[in-house]
Amino acid sequence: MKTIYVDNNATTAIAPEVLAAMQPFFTSDYFNPSSMYDAARSSAKAIQQARETIADCLGGIAPAQILFTGSATESNNSALFGTVQANPNRRHVITTAVEHPSVLEICKELARRGLDVTFLPVDQNGELILKDYIKALNNEVLITSIMMANNETGVCYPVAELARIAKETDPDIIVHTDATQAIGKLSVDLKDTLKNVDMLAFSGHKIHAPKGVGALFVRRGTRWRPFILGGHQEQGRRAGTENVPYIVGLAKACELAIAGVAEEQTRVRRMRDRLQNTLEEKIPAMEINGKAAKERLPNTLNLAFHGVEGESILYELSRYAICASSGSACTSGSLDPSHVLKAMGIPFTAIHGSVRFSLSRYNDEEDIDRIIAVLPGIIANLRKLSPYWDDKRNCLTIQGHNA
Ligand code: PMP
Repeated sequence: MKTIYVDNNATTAIAPEVLAAMQPFFTSDYFNPSSMYDAARSSAKAIQQARETIADCLGGIAPAQILFTGSATESNNSALFGTVQANPNRRHVITTAVEHPSVLEICKELARRGLDVTFLPVDQNGELILKDYIKALNNEVLITSIMMANNETGVCYPVAELARIAKETDPDIIVHTDATQAIGKLSVDLKDTLKNVDMLAFSGHKIHAPKGVGALFVRRGTRWRPFILGGHQEQGRRAGTENVPYIVGLAKACELAIAGVAEEQTRVRRMRDRLQNTLEEKIPAMEINGKAAKERLPNTLNLAFHGVEGESILYELSRYAICASSGSACTSGSLDPSHVLKAMGIPFTAIHGSVRFSLSRYNDEEDIDRIIAVLPGIIANLRKLSPYWDDKRNCLTIQGHNA
């Protein structure tokens, strides 16, 4: 049975073109790009070329503003801790309750260290409440860190507008965004729409490059200090011998993700919508988390099935070689309900029965057909076994309440 991989917000398959671009830098061109001999020049040149390609993909910005890192987690750490280090006189940080742990946990740590951190709530659609954001802004704010799109629900945040409002309040507020789920799915133009964004983080493995490479954009003039110290690589802004093949792979993946993004996302959205609409017709008591949000990533579908466990659904799906996830892959392994769905006020009976499908350019209509063919039966069977489900009346035996 062909494996149907619909967990692309967790990680993606490496594109063959990416692998091919990386290959020579594992074998013939393996040199340390800082070495002085001629042979190493191609490695140094490849890094520079990769920086230029990515700068082009992000709206044609100056390439020196791109730093290569080991992950989006590192990029977010570097952005936030590096900004705090450089600005001891400002102590207020604004973020949201639905950020990825690589922002949320840093903000909690900053709060433990005595900074004043605002975790903005979201409404039941997963959207930010604009008046809360505006109320939190003032000229003591050091940095705002609000993601472009949520990895669990796909709900998008109006970062361009939020950045504009922050800069109007005080041009010295540093605006950071985690764009890990946005690259290749939304337009990311740091010269135009996102011109008020000072720092932007993303990762390779969500866009068909390998795991273990990421990037951080730091706009020229931003008050920020390097977070990883050591050698003079990356102009002293991120020490450590550069991972040349992965950097080359990241640039190739960006190029592929940006090329034809509009048509590709239309195709992916069509598949996602067919999946969503058909399941809505076939399965009672199913909710779409974040459905009413103004903008949702075209590839993401987060479903809540009342009265069943998400883990049981995943187990049953895997028997049909369908790979999806319950909540965020990063939080699986713990039984804590998803902090994102919890922040949206979704009842715990629905959070525990939530499953995320996330598509990529490698999915096709046949994949959707198989999910549609098996999922309604899986849910019906699991509900027969569930003490929380009344099979005769087709509804929950208990009222959902908040976790
Ligand atoms: N931010 C978001 C929104 C993510 O989805 C992820 C990956 N799940 C990360 C950051 C962390 O990326 P990485 O695995 O490269 O550290």
